[in-house]
Amino acid sequence: MFSKERSKIIYLTFDDGVEAGTEEVLKVLRRQQVNATFFLTGVNTLYSIKRNKKKAFAVLKEITEQHTAANHSFSHANGFYSSYYSKGVLINNEGGRMTVLEDFLKNAQFFKNTLAGDPLFYLDHLARLPGRNSALPFTWLDTEADETTLVEDDATDTRTALRANGYILLGWNEEWKMDYNITNRIMKEKQLIIEKGGMDYTDSKLLYPDFTSYGLKYSGEERLTERWFVLANRIMAKAATNHVVLLMHDRAFRPGDGKKAQADLELLIMYLKKNGFTFKTPPIV
Ligand SMILES: [Zn+2]
Repeated sequence: MFSKERSKIIYLTFDDGVEAGTEEVLKVLRRQQVNATFFLTGVNTLYSIKRNKKKAFAVLKEITEQHTAANHSFSHANGFYSSYYSKGVLINNEGGRMTVLEDFLKNAQFFKNTLAGDPLFYLDHLARLPGRNSALPFTWLDTEADETTLVEDDATDTRTALRANGYILLGWNEEWKMDYNITNRIMKEKQLIIEKGGMDYTDSKLLYPDFTSYGLKYSGEERLTERWFVLANRIMAKAATNHVVLLMHDRAFRPGDGKKAQADLELLIMYLKKNGFTFKTPPIV
């Protein structure tokens, strides 16, 4: 059992990078000298490299050297989570599929190949499922409630397969709330294409459109929906009994909002520091 004076521990985790916003997140972390875990998605990273190779590689180098790089699948399920966990991800127009495990292994291979050499880049055997939470290790929690309520869902077999392949799964128990307006709009458009029979499952641009190309018109969407101090209250309450694993998404911090989200991230970190939090990254085996 934890004593009342035990230290407060938080794991900052950022999902779906490398994408717009990853660079801005790194800037804040650098200034505040804290480490975080990045759950990286191949398809987004591919777009980032295509958009600006030099910048994307610099971002990946900094993540490798300063933070923890973890696996968040290559495809991010293309947004179709329930079929992903029951059947895998479609990879061609004949109905061929890749299992979730294969999708994670593809992601690991992608990062290894993309950045083979200088710097040597690899993803740790730490994974987070797209669109599904996973329990935190028992030792991090005072109660077993989170573990039991999260274990039984459509991704249970997937978790077993990933664990059998040496992966440690890390979910979250706190989340910086944001809206998913752009993602939801893209999914609706995708659904229409599928209904018309026009989906090309070999075309990554159709499967996973690059929402940053939507430009300034949408810069107010896919943003944080609560200020840092609202989240900070929940974190403080949770930290009294549990380690806090905070889920965030890089793109919420992307440019275009007058640096509001970046400033909020920095204020949150400063507040947590002042309140005695230790910032940790998961132990890697
Ligand atoms: Zn994700």
